[in-house]
Amino acid sequence: MDSRKCVALIAHDQKKDDLAAFAQANEVELGLWKIVATGTTGGRVQEACPSLDITRLKSGPLGGDQQIGAMIATGNVHMLIFFTDPLTAMPHDVDVKALMRLATVYDIPMALNRATAERLIDFQHP
Ligand code: PGA
Repeated sequence: MDSRKCVALIAHDQKKDDLAAFAQANEVELGLWKIVATGTTGGRVQEACPSLDITRLKSGPLGGDQQIGAMIATGNVHMLIFFTDPLTAMPHDVDVKALMRLATVYDIPMALNRATAERLIDFQHP
Protein backbone atom coordinates (compact mmCIF):
# COMPACT_ATOMS: atom_id res chain seq x y z
CA MET A 1 0.00 0.00 0.00
CA ASP A 2 1.17 3.52 -0.77
CA SER A 3 1.32 5.22 2.62
CA ARG A 4 2.70 8.52 1.32
CA LYS A 5 0.70 11.66 1.92
CA CYS A 6 -0.97 13.24 -1.08
CA VAL A 7 -0.45 16.63 -2.70
CA ALA A 8 -3.00 18.05 -5.14
CA LEU A 9 -1.77 20.19 -8.05
CA ILE A 10 -3.95 22.64 -9.98
CA ALA A 11 -3.12 25.60 -12.19
CA HIS A 12 -5.42 27.91 -14.07
CA ASP A 13 -4.62 28.22 -17.79
CA GLN A 14 -2.44 31.33 -17.53
CA LYS A 15 -0.46 29.69 -14.71
CA LYS A 16 0.13 26.25 -16.20
CA ASP A 17 3.59 27.12 -17.57
CA ASP A 18 4.51 28.39 -14.16
CA LEU A 19 3.35 25.22 -12.41
CA ALA A 20 5.12 23.00 -14.96
CA ALA A 21 8.34 24.96 -14.34
CA PHE A 22 7.83 24.71 -10.57
CA ALA A 23 7.26 20.95 -10.83
CA GLN A 24 10.37 20.50 -12.99
CA ALA A 25 12.49 22.44 -10.53
CA ASN A 26 11.10 20.37 -7.64
CA GLU A 27 10.67 16.98 -9.32
CA VAL A 28 12.63 15.10 -6.65
CA GLU A 29 10.70 16.69 -3.76
CA LEU A 30 7.35 16.10 -5.49
CA GLY A 31 8.31 12.48 -6.06
CA LEU A 32 8.12 11.93 -2.30
CA TRP A 33 4.36 12.57 -2.45
CA LYS A 34 1.40 10.82 -3.96
CA ILE A 35 0.16 13.30 -6.55
CA VAL A 36 -3.31 14.06 -7.84
CA ALA A 37 -4.09 16.84 -10.29
CA THR A 38 -6.94 18.23 -12.32
CA GLY A 39 -6.98 16.86 -15.86
CA THR A 40 -5.17 19.42 -17.98
CA THR A 41 -2.78 20.47 -15.24
CA GLY A 42 -1.88 16.82 -14.62
CA GLY A 43 -1.10 16.33 -18.31
CA ARG A 44 1.16 19.36 -18.40
CA VAL A 45 3.04 18.40 -15.26
CA GLN A 46 3.40 14.81 -16.44
CA GLU A 47 4.95 16.03 -19.71
CA ALA A 48 7.37 18.23 -17.81
CA CYS A 49 8.22 15.56 -15.23
CA PRO A 50 8.14 12.03 -16.70
CA SER A 51 9.40 10.50 -13.44
CA LEU A 52 6.29 11.51 -11.48
CA ASP A 53 3.28 9.25 -11.11
CA ILE A 54 0.27 11.55 -11.34
CA THR A 55 -3.36 10.58 -10.91
CA ARG A 56 -5.38 12.81 -13.21
CA LEU A 57 -8.90 13.73 -12.15
CA LYS A 58 -11.51 15.61 -14.19
CA SER A 59 -10.68 18.97 -15.65
CA GLY A 60 -11.34 21.80 -13.20
CA PRO A 61 -14.37 23.31 -14.94
CA LEU A 62 -15.89 19.82 -15.28
CA GLY A 63 -15.67 18.94 -11.59
CA GLY A 64 -11.97 18.34 -10.91
CA ASP A 65 -11.78 21.05 -8.25
CA GLN A 66 -14.75 19.48 -6.50
CA GLN A 67 -13.15 16.04 -6.65
CA ILE A 68 -10.09 17.44 -4.90
CA GLY A 69 -12.32 19.20 -2.36
CA ALA A 70 -13.99 15.87 -1.57
CA MET A 71 -10.56 14.25 -1.15
CA ILE A 72 -9.58 16.98 1.33
CA ALA A 73 -12.82 16.43 3.27
CA THR A 74 -12.19 12.68 3.45
CA GLY A 75 -8.57 13.09 4.56
CA ASN A 76 -7.05 11.90 1.29
CA VAL A 77 -5.35 15.13 0.21
CA HIS A 78 -2.90 16.65 2.67
CA MET A 79 -1.46 19.64 0.80
CA LEU A 80 -2.76 21.86 -1.99
CA ILE A 81 -0.66 23.66 -4.58
CA PHE A 82 -3.04 25.75 -6.63
CA PHE A 83 -1.63 28.41 -8.96
CA THR A 84 -4.64 30.66 -9.39
CA ASP A 85 -5.14 33.36 -12.01
CA PRO A 86 -6.66 36.42 -10.32
CA LEU A 87 -6.96 38.33 -13.62
CA THR A 88 -9.35 36.09 -15.55
CA ALA A 89 -13.04 35.37 -14.95
CA MET A 90 -13.71 31.65 -14.51
CA PRO A 91 -16.94 29.78 -15.22
CA HIS A 92 -16.17 27.55 -12.22
CA ASP A 93 -15.29 30.35 -9.80
CA VAL A 94 -17.67 28.91 -7.19
CA ASP A 95 -15.79 25.60 -7.31
CA VAL A 96 -12.46 27.40 -6.89
CA LYS A 97 -13.77 29.23 -3.82
CA ALA A 98 -15.28 26.03 -2.41
CA LEU A 99 -11.94 24.26 -2.75
CA MET A 100 -10.05 27.03 -0.96
CA ARG A 101 -12.73 27.01 1.71
CA LEU A 102 -12.32 23.27 2.35
CA ALA A 103 -8.54 23.58 2.46
CA THR A 104 -9.07 26.22 5.14
CA VAL A 105 -11.73 24.22 7.04
CA TYR A 106 -9.48 21.15 7.17
CA ASP A 107 -6.40 23.28 7.81
CA ILE A 108 -4.15 21.75 5.18
CA PRO A 109 -1.14 23.65 3.83
CA MET A 110 -2.23 25.56 0.71
CA ALA A 111 -0.03 27.51 -1.71
CA LEU A 112 -1.83 29.79 -4.16
CA ASN A 113 1.29 31.09 -5.92
CA ARG A 114 4.81 30.00 -6.75
CA ALA A 115 6.55 31.97 -4.01
CA THR A 116 4.55 30.14 -1.35
CA ALA A 117 4.78 26.78 -3.12
CA GLU A 118 8.59 27.01 -3.19
CA ARG A 119 8.61 27.45 0.56
CA LEU A 120 5.99 24.78 1.27
CA ILE A 121 7.72 22.10 -0.77
CA ASP A 122 10.91 22.68 1.21
CA PHE A 123 9.33 22.59 4.63
CA GLN A 124 6.40 20.18 4.32
CA HIS A 125 7.28 16.50 4.24
CA PRO A 126 4.96 13.68 3.28
P1 PGA B 1 -7.44 21.90 -15.53
O1 PGA B 1 -8.33 22.52 -14.39
O2 PGA B 1 -6.17 21.46 -14.91
O3 PGA B 1 -8.21 20.73 -16.07
O4 PGA B 1 -7.26 22.98 -16.55
C1 PGA B 1 -7.83 23.56 -13.60
C2 PGA B 1 -8.86 24.58 -13.32
O5 PGA B 1 -9.08 25.44 -14.17
O6 PGA B 1 -9.48 24.57 -12.24
